[in-house]
Amino acid sequence: MPKREFHPRRRRCKEKNIGHHYERVIALESLDDVPRELGKDLYIVRRGQKDRWLVVACPCGCGDKIEANLMRTHYPHWRLKRHNDSTVSLRPSLWVSEERCGSHFWLIRSRVVWAFWEQEN
Ligand SMILES: [Zn+2]
Repeated sequence: MPKREFHPRRRRCKEKNIGHHYERVIALESLDDVPRELGKDLYIVRRGQKDRWLVVACPCGCGDKIEANLMRTHYPHWRLKRHNDSTVSLRPSLWVSEERCGSHFWLIRSRVVWAFWEQEN
C-alpha cells in the first residue's frame, strides 16, 4: 500500500479514523437538544420543514463539535442531500479552523472522505 502523505498538522488524525462513518442520522428540533456526547451519530436540526443545522463530532477524534449551517438565508451555508439508504451527503466540504484541529473532509453518504486524499496524485 502506498504511503500517504499527511499534512503535518493533520498527523493527529490517526489511521484508525480513516474510513470513519457516522452510524445514524438523528433529527432534532433545536440545537439545544443536541447531546453533549455526539458519538458516531450525525444530528440534523430541522424545524418548520426546514433543515437548519448539521452537527457532528469531528472525525479526527479531537472531540470538537462541528456545526454546519444549512439555512440558505445565512452565510456560509452547506447543502444537505438525503439518500434512500438513510445516509446523507454534504456540500461543500467541512473545514475546521487551523487553531482547532485543522480537519478538512467531505461527508459523502455519511462517510468521511479526508480532503487531503484528493490532493495526492
Ligand atoms: Zn478534529
